[in-house]
Amino acid sequence: DQARTEAHAVIRDLSAGTPAFDRLTLTRELPDAIVNGEMFLQYQPKVHVRRQQIASAEALVRWQHPTRGLILPGDFITVAEEAREISALTLWTLEKVIADQKLIAADGNDLTIFINISGQLLADVRFVKQMCTRVVESGARIGLEITETSVIRDPESAIANLQAFADVGIAIAIDDYGAGLSSLAYLKQLPARELKIDKMFVLQLTSSNRDPLIVRSTIDLAHALEMEVTAEGVETQAAMALLSVMGCDMVQGYLISRPVSIEAFRQFLRDDKAR
Ligand code: C2E
Ligand code: CA
Ligand code: CA
Ligand code: CA
Repeated sequence: DQARTEAHAVIRDLSAGTPAFDRLTLTRELPDAIVNGEMFLQYQPKVHVRRQQIASAEALVRWQHPTRGLILPGDFITVAEEAREISALTLWTLEKVIADQKLIAADGNDLTIFINISGQLLADVRFVKQMCTRVVESGARIGLEITETSVIRDPESAIANLQAFADVGIAIAIDDYGAGLSSLAYLKQLPARELKIDKMFVLQLTSSNRDPLIVRSTIDLAHALEMEVTAEGVETQAAMALLSVMGCDMVQGYLISRPVSIEAFRQFLRDDKAR
């Protein structure tokens, strides 16, 4: 019986998320994967509700593994963080975004592209310098999405580094607002102009009693702090309508577009312009 219980526990572990042995393999494979071009980006637009215009885009990284197929960031970002590969991966992402933004500009479109930044990197002075240097050199319009939780660890250096980004014209957005430990105390100290409400409050917006209250008060709070609000995970017209009434500034989600390849994203922007 003991053996059977253990066997069941193993099966449960294997089916839940990334099993331990898999993580080890991914850790070994990750550095080469970046160099071998197995990583690629998808883009998802954020749309301005009142202006009915594309406001910006978010770059999301994916790993096309030669034998395992497509791996989503939920399964390898923490691996990259633990393996100290997250700086290399993020700098690779930046280079790709700079190149893709040039393609978008050649189509006559011009928009800021946001990159997700792990909390770990907000304490990495070398990374901050490299990032700022490349953004200034390239003249790219870059934004960073950071979570509140990443600021709490070492607020002083995080705030200083965020200010360094802001000083070279990098836009800062607070990601996943409400999902982690809330840091209202820091919120007003951050040089962020945008607050993204986590999709956990948006997905059931029109069927829950509690979520509309949370979303509405978050929008009001952000506006009081002179920040723009983005709701992520907007999947239905009903959610969109409610968010519009609540004064939400921008929306992002499957209703508008799933994350798509750079080719599909350029087409999306061209179609939008022709409309
Ligand atoms: P996130 O920044 O909160 O990204 C939003 C996630 O929600 C994405 O998942 C996106 O595909 C998904 N999503 C977008 N619209 C909808 C919708 O309408 N409904 C639903 N159900 N989901 C939607 P994805 O691409 O799997 O990314 C997961 C997380 O991985 C991201 O969460 C982000 O924290 C992290 N990540 C992605 N790329 C990078 C990166 O380059 N660096 C770092 N450090 N983290 C990254
Ligand atoms: Ca994000
Ligand atoms: Ca988010
Ligand atoms: Ca998230």
